[in-house]
Amino acid sequence: MIADPALMGTAALQRDFSRHSWLHFTRMKGAIESGAAIIDRGEGCYVWDINGKRYFDGLSGLFAVQIGYGRAELAETAAEQMKRLSFASHFGYANTPSIELATRLASLAPEPLNRVFFTASGSEAVETALKMARQYHRLRGHQGRYKTISRRLAYHGTSFGALSVTGIAALRAPFEPLVPGARHVSNTNIFRDDPPESEAAYTRRLLMEMEDAVLFEGPDSVSAVIIEPVQNSGGCFTPPAGYMQGVRALCDRYGIVFISDEVICAFGRLGTMFGHQKYDYVPDIVTMAKGLSSGYQPIGGCLVSDAIADTFMDTKTQMFVHGITFGGHPVAAAVALKNLDLMVEEGVVENVARNEGYFKQQLMELMSRHHCIGDVRGAGYFMALELVRDKETNETFSDEECEVLLRGVVSTQLLDEGLICRADDRGDPVIQLSPPLITTRQQIGAMVDVLDHVLTTVDQRYYNQPRHLRTMPASR
Ligand code: PMP
Repeated sequence: MIADPALMGTAALQRDFSRHSWLHFTRMKGAIESGAAIIDRGEGCYVWDINGKRYFDGLSGLFAVQIGYGRAELAETAAEQMKRLSFASHFGYANTPSIELATRLASLAPEPLNRVFFTASGSEAVETALKMARQYHRLRGHQGRYKTISRRLAYHGTSFGALSVTGIAALRAPFEPLVPGARHVSNTNIFRDDPPESEAAYTRRLLMEMEDAVLFEGPDSVSAVIIEPVQNSGGCFTPPAGYMQGVRALCDRYGIVFISDEVICAFGRLGTMFGHQKYDYVPDIVTMAKGLSSGYQPIGGCLVSDAIADTFMDTKTQMFVHGITFGGHPVAAAVALKNLDLMVEEGVVENVARNEGYFKQQLMELMSRHHCIGDVRGAGYFMALELVRDKETNETFSDEECEVLLRGVVSTQLLDEGLICRADDRGDPVIQLSPPLITTRQQIGAMVDVLDHVLTTVDQRYYNQPRHLRTMPASR
């Protein structure tokens, strides 16, 4: 039975939380002292906490809940599938929902992405793609290809392989040494890259750097390039024109597997079904998770080109030496399939494409009203505002200021005002907005109104002081 918070009592739940729960990527001491925000239910774009307070979920759970909360059709699909076949191993056995889902994904993706290997999460999808690339090279007689090229600040997951290609020093440091051969190159932070140059020249510079890295490592030692269509960490870095086509050409030139990590960017987030469709390139492997089931079931996977998949199917004795108990789970697959049905029937991807310009325009206007916003960037329903100390010079905040500004002021006030979004300082400080794909223009307006109000506080408290006295107050 689901515990009814009203019966159990908030205090008892908080007591049990403080004794037994362990939140992910969370400073637990603070969470225990202040009490956890305990989410109790959701409907559409909103969630309610156990005290009955309503929030607009401007983060779609964690970039996952594409079609919104509380969809009875998905609950019914799960229940029906559980009654029919609650679990089946993919180790040697197929099941109907996983076949149908793989077929649907192949039909939605461009050629030659036709085969799907399922996992239960994004990290597993990335881990799978990295291992698949390596074994693919071995099967073709290229024993020495094991290295990877990924980008600084990019997040690709927490398991050792995925963490190794992740480019966030603070996440890597506690676990080093990591998997050898992970090389990191510049991301596409157009706002911060210096000196200013034409977009074409910038693209050329980034591609030359990537090619230099391949040549330095030795092309025969490089297995894969892994990048996101729009890089999440650092705040929605979009690629400059020609960049993705250049990466595709580079991978072709040196026989490197091109992995497009679309754990966030697939399933409509950018206003196209897959992230690579937004920027008009076709990778060799697409990693996916999150929005595949709108977060209703834990499911991920790799969508793989014929050339790579067929290499594993050349002879009767070959296999991909890899598997996950919950990969191809029939309930997760049935729910994901129904989610894709609903997304197509209800035109949610089109909703994003239609409103993308409006969303960006609202944020640009917000920027014009606030000292503290230096940049607006992103695509589809995946946008970031970069906060700056000085709009003229784009000077950023110190680490201490970020701590007070993001954690002490912005995050708490946004929550107080009923908006969940992400205030992140893994790179320069940003606020990220990634609402459910069903979000209307009116709801975008309401989200921007809350930001307007909260950032006015930041402007007033910080910028109304003489420059030499500007420090963020230590607490609200
Ligand atoms: N790749 C990317 C691009 C991601 O954003 C994430 C998660 N945020 C992952 C991989 C890892 O996914 P998971 O948390 O499901 O393991």
